[in-house]
Order: sequence, then structure tokens, then C-alpha cells
Amino acid sequence: HQSRTFEVRIFSYFEDHKLVVVRDITELYQLAQIRRDFIANASHELRTPLTVLRGYLEVMLDTPGSHQNAWQVPLQHMETQAHRMQAIIEDLLALSTIESGSINRSKSVVSVASLLHQIEKDAQRLGGVNHKFSFEIDDHLTLEGYEESLKSLFMNLVSNAVRYSPEGGDIKVRWFKHNQQAVFEVIDEGIGIAQEHIPRLTERFYRVDADRSRGTGGTGLGLAIVKHVLERHNGQLQIDSVVGKGSCFRCVFPLSSK
Ligand code: ADP
Repeated sequence: HQSRTFEVRIFSYFEDHKLVVVRDITELYQLAQIRRDFIANASHELRTPLTVLRGYLEVMLDTPGSHQNAWQVPLQHMETQAHRMQAIIEDLLALSTIESGSINRSKSVVSVASLLHQIEKDAQRLGGVNHKFSFEIDDHLTLEGYEESLKSLFMNLVSNAVRYSPEGGDIKVRWFKHNQQAVFEVIDEGIGIAQEHIPRLTERFYRVDADRSRGTGGTGLGLAIVKHVLERHNGQLQIDSVVGKGSCFRCVFPLSSK
């Protein structure tokens, strides 16, 4: 016997009736698994040759006298592009780990405050040298979840705020409790996003302006990672944005009522 996978949905139906819909999604589930495995394997296989290429490029760029060499500029472009490719591969791997890898691991109590204090210390390194950060963190508010994934969610949203807002702009990061929910919020004074793009932002490689995204080091996968991390934590993403004024990315996590 091959095991099969079912999706069960229960709807309220009239006053005290329930409607139960059971769907066999075995094939769908297997296809999704094949797709996930393929992406994970392909990314993994691409990692090694790219590391070798980057190694040689570094040696060539470091060779004494190489700055006078006519190849210096093309080599630097190659190094920049190889670096970008590596960032994409790392994000693809992170996505597949989040999608499937953490299923078997158990959650632990994560001190979100210490993760955020780390990010606060490193915020300038995310590119925000001239941005004005303010962090408002509830030090006692913890979350049950996966630490690495949560860290990458926070980093992605903070680095987006930096990349899509002008130097000198204010960036507010908040972590607080509200109505039995934990809320993480990043507010920027950046370029904003037109309403029609908002529903599609978490799709892989969806970008409002591809050139700007690439130019600032984006992989096009940041918000897809955010979405999957939130799914793992039963959280929700809310995006409020006004073009030319700025954006607020808010993650809302349910807290257990224990
Ligand atoms: P990217 O690497 O392109 O930034 P993301 O998945 O992180 O990929 O984001 C998808 C798109 O959403 C971006 O290309 C950008 O157009 C838009 N976006 C994300 N964050 C912001 C923000 N804080 N302000 C304005 N636009 C944003």
C-alpha cells in the first residue's frame, strides 16, 4: 500500500451544520516535494563550482601589480556577479531548508530580543550607514519557534527597509505584545509600493523594479523567505505602504494562551 495525502477542510454550513470537504492531494504533494528536492539539489551542486571560481578570482585580483592590469575592471565585475550568484544560491537553499528541513526539528523558546539586539548592533553593516535606526524592543517577549529562520526573517525585512529608502531616512523596528499576539514591525520612509504590487511581493523573484533590486544587492527571494518563515510559525504578514512616503511590514504571531 502506498500512503496517500488528504486535505480536509471544514466549513460552517447554515446554523449548526458543518460541511467537510476531503480532497486527495497525493500527486500534488509529491510534485511539490519533487520541485523542492530539485531546487535544493541544484542549488547545492552549484555552490561548489562557484566557490572555486570565486577563489581564483580573488587570487587574480590580489596578485601584486594586478591593479595596473587591463583585466582588473572585468575581473572585478566577474567577482561582483559571482557574489550575486552566490547570494541567490544561499537564499534558494535557505528557502528549501525552511520549506522542508525544519519539519522534523522541534521548536524552542527563542529570545527574539537578543536576536534583535544583535541586528541592532550590525544594522550599519546591512548597508544602513546613514540611516537613522530606532529599535523598540520588549525584552521579555519570547516566541516559540526556529531561531535561525526567525533571524533571517528579521534580517530580510530590515535590509529591505535600508535598500528601499534614502540615506538619512528613519527606520523604526518594533517588537511588542498586542492582544495576545507578538508583533514585529519595520517601518521605513522609503520609496513605498503601489497597491497593485502588494499581493504579489512574496512570490519568488517578484520585483517592482528589477534594476533597483539587483543594483542594491537583492536576490528577489527575501520576502518569499519571510512568507515561509511566517507559515512555519502560524504568523501573518501585513504590508501598509504609500508610494513616495514609506512602508510598514508587520509580522503578527499568535501567542499560546498558556
Ligand atoms: P529583493 O531582493 O528584490 O528586495 P524581496 O523579496 O526582498 O526581493 O522583495 C521583493 C520586492 O518588494 C522588491 O524587489 C521591492 O520591489 C519590494 N520591496 C520589498 N521591501 C520593500 C520596502 N521596504 N520598500 C519598498 N519596496 C519594497
